[in-house]
Amino acid sequence: MSDASNAALLDVRDVSKAFGTVEVLRAVSLEVKRGEVVTIIGPSGSGKTTLLRCVNFLESYDSGSIRIDGKEVGYRDAGTRQHRSERDLAAMRAETGMVFQSFNLFPHLTAAGNIMLGLRKVRGKSEAEARQIAEHWLGRVGLAHKADSLPAELSGGQQQRVGIARAVAMEPKILLLDEITSALDPELVGEVLAVVRSLAEDGMTMLMVTHEMAFARDASSRIVFMADGGVSAVGPPAEILAAEASNERLRSFLARFR
Ligand code: ADP
Repeated sequence: MSDASNAALLDVRDVSKAFGTVEVLRAVSLEVKRGEVVTIIGPSGSGKTTLLRCVNFLESYDSGSIRIDGKEVGYRDAGTRQHRSERDLAAMRAETGMVFQSFNLFPHLTAAGNIMLGLRKVRGKSEAEARQIAEHWLGRVGLAHKADSLPAELSGGQQQRVGIARAVAMEPKILLLDEITSALDPELVGEVLAVVRSLAEDGMTMLMVTHEMAFARDASSRIVFMADGGVSAVGPPAEILAAEASNERLRSFLARFR
């Protein structure tokens, strides 16, 4: 199954989740195939971040399934989680790489040091090997010259590019990007999206929550529009834009970007 090129790499099926009495995800289903870039758009509070957190194992869900390469990666409840060893959990979590809105770099570590940490601790690489991989990926995001800079010495855009390099250096099967440009000054957004675009061109599989509509339209294989915890529309960008005519929620959401 993992070799079938058109099988979904990420398969989210009927996932529901409530925080107390608030239903945050209602039977959400979506697929991301190998090499696809799928963007999730939708109003604030529609469940986009919670969905990504479920895929990345940061949150449990109540029903449904989340599979990566055919393997269940999420956990349905705390009880299930207890039956898995920490080693299993770490291995499953390593299948996904997540980049957050707030850059989340360790402030006391250099750009290279931030990337090396997971390579050393999770991947068991030697210091020299980790350094080499870190330098490779820093070069890939245009920051070869900043390897020894601390986060405070970098612009927001540069910090986020280090965050992306840190995630891809771990060789995840899928990269999860949660509003990674939302905290940036407008003039720094372009350099970060350019890195995402070039990774996509190299075939990196991605699931991305974004408010950058032009980027979603130009760079996505498919767009998922979430509203009220459910998938309200899904399809290639042209189809989603055409669906506006018949989908009132989508129309009013997109109107904010005009
Ligand atoms: P989005 O990313 O689309 O803005 P979120 O997934 O962040 O939406 O949030 C969906 C809903 O879940 C919101 O109503 C939010 O307040 C609620 N929510 C998110 N995280 C928690 C939590 N840890 N506890 C309680 N409610 C939460």
